[in-house]
Amino acid sequence: MTIHKKTEQIKKYDIDETYDVNVLKMEEDVKIGLEIHCQLTSLQTKLFCSCRSNYRNLKPNMNICPICYGLPGSLPLLNKKAIEYAAMMCISFNCIIPEKIFFYRKNYFYPDLPKNFQITQYNSYELSSIGYDGFLHYGDNNSNGENNSNDKTNRVDNKKVRIKRIQLEEDPGKIVYEYNNSKLTNYCLIDYNRAGVALVEIVTEPDFTDASDVRLFLNKITNIFEYLGVSDPNLEGAVRCDVNVSIRGGKKVEIKNINSFKDVEKSIFYEITRQKTLSVHEIQVKSETRHWDEKRKITSHARTKEEEDDYRYFPEPDIPIIELGSDFKSTLKEIMPELPLERIQRYKDIHKLSDHVSSILVNNKQISDFYEESLKLYNSPKEISNWIINELLSKINDPEERREFELDNPNKNRLFNVNVNPQQIADIAKLVEETSINRNTAKDIFSKSIKTGESPIKLSKSLNVEKIKDLNVLSDHINDILTTEPHLIEQSISNQSINNYILGKVMKKTAGRSDPQITLKLIKEILERNRKQEKE
Ligand SMILES: [Zn+2]
Repeated sequence: MTIHKKTEQIKKYDIDETYDVNVLKMEEDVKIGLEIHCQLTSLQTKLFCSCRSNYRNLKPNMNICPICYGLPGSLPLLNKKAIEYAAMMCISFNCIIPEKIFFYRKNYFYPDLPKNFQITQYNSYELSSIGYDGFLHYGDNNSNGENNSNDKTNRVDNKKVRIKRIQLEEDPGKIVYEYNNSKLTNYCLIDYNRAGVALVEIVTEPDFTDASDVRLFLNKITNIFEYLGVSDPNLEGAVRCDVNVSIRGGKKVEIKNINSFKDVEKSIFYEITRQKTLSVHEIQVKSETRHWDEKRKITSHARTKEEEDDYRYFPEPDIPIIELGSDFKSTLKEIMPELPLERIQRYKDIHKLSDHVSSILVNNKQISDFYEESLKLYNSPKEISNWIINELLSKINDPEERREFELDNPNKNRLFNVNVNPQQIADIAKLVEETSINRNTAKDIFSKSIKTGESPIKLSKSLNVEKIKDLNVLSDHINDILTTEPHLIEQSISNQSINNYILGKVMKKTAGRSDPQITLKLIKEILERNRKQEKE
C-alpha cells in the first residue's frame, strides 16, 4: 500500500526515486530566523498612555483613550517601567544596551493600526533600539540524564543563537473575524483595546537549522520571561512568533499568524518541505509573506514581502531622545530577579543538586518555586527534590496526556490540578529521613496523600505504618521463630548468615515494618543468650 502511494507521488512529479531522499537529506542548507513578540503583561498601563495593560476579558473598545486611538493632538508619554523591563530582557539575552534610545514611526495602513503608523524602534542615525548584538545559549535540558553522570561537560545549553536586536514598540489592535453558521462573513470587527500595549520584539539571526531547536529556544525564552516577571507566557497572545525560512541561500519566506509553539514547529516543517520540493523542480522560491493556516496545517501566500523602505521609517517627533546613561545597565542588574541559569547554579553550589535535577526543577518556574517553598518547611534539598521529581511529577499526569499538555503550554504544569502543597512534600521527606517509615510505604502514603489531600504524617499514624521499634514486640517475634526452628541457635555459632535469615523472617511477619538495625541487634543478643543457656 505504502509503496504504491509512493510510486504515484513520483509519477505525479515525473522525477526519479531520489525525490524523497533529496527532500529529507539537506538539513544543513536550512536557515531559520525568528521574530518574537512578547507583551509586557506585568505592566499596569499601556506603553504611551494610562489605559490598562490588561485588555483581556474587557468589552470591545472600552480600554482606549485619545492617545492609543491616535486622535490628532494627543501626545504619547513613555512608560518608564516598560523601558526597565525591556532592558532586563536585553541583559538576559546578553545584548548591548546603548546609552541613548529613540523611537520611530513605522508607516503602514492596516485596519488594526488606528494611527496608520506604529511607534517602534529602528537602528539608524547612530541611534539604536534598546538592545542589539546579543546571544543566548539553549539546549535540551531533559536529554542530559543521570546516565551521563560521567560526562563532566555541561550539556544543558549546548546550542547558541545570535540576537540581532531587541526593540520596544506598541501592539496594534485586534481584527475579529465573524462566522455565520461556521462560514466566514464578508466583514470583520476591530477591537482597539490591545492597541498601545507594550510589546518587546526580539529578532534573531537565522541561526536555526531545525524546527525542534526553535521549539527548545522558545521554551527557554518563555522560561526567562517568567523568571524576570515581565510577562506571563501562558496568557493567550502574550508571546507570538513569526518565522522566516530559506533554503540553500535562496529567498526568505516569512510565516505569520502562528498561534502556538506547536504550530511554529509544524509550520517550519511544512515550509521547508514546500521550498525543497520547489527547488527539486527547479522552481524559484519567491520572497513573500505566508499565512499559517491552522486548520489545514499549511502555509499560504499572503502578500509579497515588504522591504524596509516600504515602511518609510522616520523619527517619532513627539517623544524625545531617552538618555539611559552609562550606569543604567549595572544599576538594573543589581535589582533584577534571579535568572534560570543563576538559579541552576545556586541549586548546584548551595543545595548540592546535580545538573540534571537542578535543570528539571528550574525549567518550570512553578515547580522550582514549589521546591523552594517545601524547602522552607523541611530543609533537605536532596530528599525534597527527589520526591518532587521522581514521585510528584510522574504522578501528575499520565505521560501521553502530559506530553500533549506541555506541547501546548510549554511553561505550564498541572502541579496545581492535584491536591498537593509544599507541606505534603516536606512531611513525606521528613517521615523518610527521620526513618520512622520505609521508602516503599512512604510512596504509598504519598499517593494516598495527593489523592485525598490529607497530611502524610496523619496518614502514617492512621495507617499504622510506622516502623516497629518496640523491643518487646520484636523479641516476641524472634522468640517465636526460635521456638519453631530451634536448630537455628546451634547453627548460628558457625554460620553468620543465620542472623539475616531470622531478620528476613521477622520482616515477613511484620510486613516489612520492623526497624532492621534494631531487630538485627536484638537477634544477636537473643541468640547469644540462648547459646549460653544451652551450655549451662
Ligand atoms: Zn490609551
